[in-house]
Amino acid sequence: MIRRTKIVATLGPASSDVQVIDRLIEAGVDVVRLNFSHGSPEDHVQRAEMVRERARAHGRAIGVLADLQGPKIRIGKFADGKIHLKEGDSFILDIHCSMGDQTRVGVTYPQLVSDVDRGATLLLNDGMIVLWVEKVQGGEIHTRVVQGGELSNSKGINRAGGGLTAPALTDKDRADIITAAQLEADYLAVSFPRSAADMDEARRLFREAGGHGALIAKIERAEAVDAIEEILAVSEGIMVARGDLGVEIGDAAVPPVQKRIIALAQKHNRLSITATQMMESMIHQPIPTRAEVSDVANAVLDGTDAVMLSAETASGAYPVEAVAAMDRTCREAERHAPSTNTLQIIDRPLAGVDETIAAAALLATLRSSIAAIAAFTESGSTALWLSRANPKVPIYALTPQVYTRRKVTLYRGVHPVNFPQNRHDDPVQVMRAAEDELRRRGAVRDGDLMLITIGEPIGSPGGTNTLKLVRVGDLTHRG
Ligand code: PGA
Ligand code: MN
Repeated sequence: MIRRTKIVATLGPASSDVQVIDRLIEAGVDVVRLNFSHGSPEDHVQRAEMVRERARAHGRAIGVLADLQGPKIRIGKFADGKIHLKEGDSFILDIHCSMGDQTRVGVTYPQLVSDVDRGATLLLNDGMIVLWVEKVQGGEIHTRVVQGGELSNSKGINRAGGGLTAPALTDKDRADIITAAQLEADYLAVSFPRSAADMDEARRLFREAGGHGALIAKIERAEAVDAIEEILAVSEGIMVARGDLGVEIGDAAVPPVQKRIIALAQKHNRLSITATQMMESMIHQPIPTRAEVSDVANAVLDGTDAVMLSAETASGAYPVEAVAAMDRTCREAERHAPSTNTLQIIDRPLAGVDETIAAAALLATLRSSIAAIAAFTESGSTALWLSRANPKVPIYALTPQVYTRRKVTLYRGVHPVNFPQNRHDDPVQVMRAAEDELRRRGAVRDGDLMLITIGEPIGSPGGTNTLKLVRVGDLTHRG
């Protein structure tokens, strides 16, 4: 069986040479993530080029997701590189401090002093260190250490419960959006958006820079969870960014939020990526923990489009093994995935032609034994609707458009196929060629039933209006 859930792998120092990229592609990576929190623009451009070159060599389409750093608030540096804080110590975050010591450290965001008051809880280094704010005085935030530990240069700061006012796009993000457009990113992930307006602004800048890709809102602030419906309305997809989200809303609140926002994304015809610490122990170990395997399997059962690897593939010791572990875990979970949530699409009023065709296709796959769906698509929109219907059979997106092939790499259950065609082609010839292509891939055999979605005239975007049920081989024999 072909895997339906997609795998996103972050590239970094551990995954930048040709040999590793080849092995990642062979292990089943669908989308690579370029993390703009690290590395130079040149690094990212080079990695994108290398991935596309190797993908071509493998006859595959691989999507590229450019992930902006966003307004991650960080502490400054220490004279000794790090300090050790003990419970009960007093410690100052000082916007004027240029070199930190045991008593104080700088912050990258001066506005922080206006955003916090006595009683606020600040979480440093992903919540490892907890500071309680005693008073704010000029440019200094005086705190008491509630949970101590080692604190090294440039660690992140979050506020428990959210409420930091930093705008979603920094000057660095604005420059990185231009780089993302230049390297033709298929997806642009926006970090720490609070509202639909933040996403609109990112889209405007990306389009102005010539970017064609789709936008992913990273849900990692308490405010974004509250504004999830309006954010979904203006984004092609969301990422459950569990790292920062867990620090802001508390770790225990993350699993129910994950389930709720994946279901909402599905309902609104949007994509979802489940991210962070999925195979965390594999940064150092060649096999995952049972808990990590369960986490990945549960994300599959939640209906996520994709599961993501961060440091596991960017800087870990076992990048290829991490992808392989995700691959086998997804496949096994999919064999047992319930299809009940998919029935939503049949039960609700159907808005458009695409959606109606997708619902009819789903019903057909539930009621008769269909081997595969061949979807002729220009923009990918039919493939997206079919994917939201979440049928158990593979969906092949047949398209001559390279951008569309790269975009559908993130769609659950959809597999891109390079399929040249033009609007003067005879539809019967085209469908026969599609049947041959799926046969060649081992997706169908003579005598199988397959579904075809197609529009007239062939090759016009948004034109899908036909659902055909064909017995493989019949078209050929009709001559
Ligand atoms: P990051 O985002 O890896 O860019 O921090 C993901 C997360 O916060 O989970
Ligand atoms: Mn984050």
